[in-house]
Amino acid sequence: MGLKVGLDLGSTAIKVVFVEHNEMIWKKSVPTAPGQEKIAADLVTEGLEALDRHRDDLQGIAVTGYGKGLVNGAQKTVDEVTANALGILLSANKARTVINIGGQDIKIIRLSETGKVSDFKMNDKCAAGTGRFFEVAGRILDTPVSEFGPLSRDADAPAKINSTCAVFAESEIVSLMAQGITKENIIQGLHESVARRIANLIGNREVAEEAYLDGGAANNYGLVTAVEYELCQDIHVLGHPQFTVAYGAAHSLGDS
Ligand code: ADP
Repeated sequence: MGLKVGLDLGSTAIKVVFVEHNEMIWKKSVPTAPGQEKIAADLVTEGLEALDRHRDDLQGIAVTGYGKGLVNGAQKTVDEVTANALGILLSANKARTVINIGGQDIKIIRLSETGKVSDFKMNDKCAAGTGRFFEVAGRILDTPVSEFGPLSRDADAPAKINSTCAVFAESEIVSLMAQGITKENIIQGLHESVARRIANLIGNREVAEEAYLDGGAANNYGLVTAVEYELCQDIHVLGHPQFTVAYGAAHSLGDS
């Protein structure tokens, strides 16, 4: 089994994983910026150097994500939904529902018993309830999104936030701050409002018992617990949830 690379060129972050014997042995994420092909190529070079390996050791490179068409020379291009399903199933073969919260979209993926994607739903085009929404909120609150989870633990009376639209939520947050509502309560209010949006997107379809949350926003356990509460069930999060899609892409190369 060779050394495989999965590249996920997302709307917000470019992720790379190096996989050997189905194990993620090196990974890195950098913000998406112009010149994605060069950024991706540099990440591959950096990974090879860090692992003290050579280009000849590579079985192949697979590319997925919003910017997948921007990379030439990869052995394989795979769509995000297929890559996500593969990435989850490798670690959790009983997974039946995957909720992916990325920088600019929310995807609900359903898997059959044989691991095939049986249904797929995505939010509408606006960034409501996505990672971008939390980033906008973080700027107003002067708090990085990585602190949202820890801070939300200290919420004692979560704010009622009606909007998951980044534009409307901005004025709602400013007005809550002016009323003296604590940052912790505003953040937990944001988690709860996004959790409600996810539940609405799922609608009356069933969520399998084996449900997983991934994408960068799954690093925020305040959001994860709010989704669990809203859906009335446990939601699993694997280690490194932001890298599942890149990991699945690498796996799509198969074995040689
Ligand atoms: P995409 O593939 O669309 O670029 P990702 O799955 O990489 O999206 O997720 C990016 C989002 O993940 C960012 O918008 C950011 O808000 C969120 N994110 C990343 N790390 C964390 C963290 N530690 N806590 C909360 N949110 C995070």
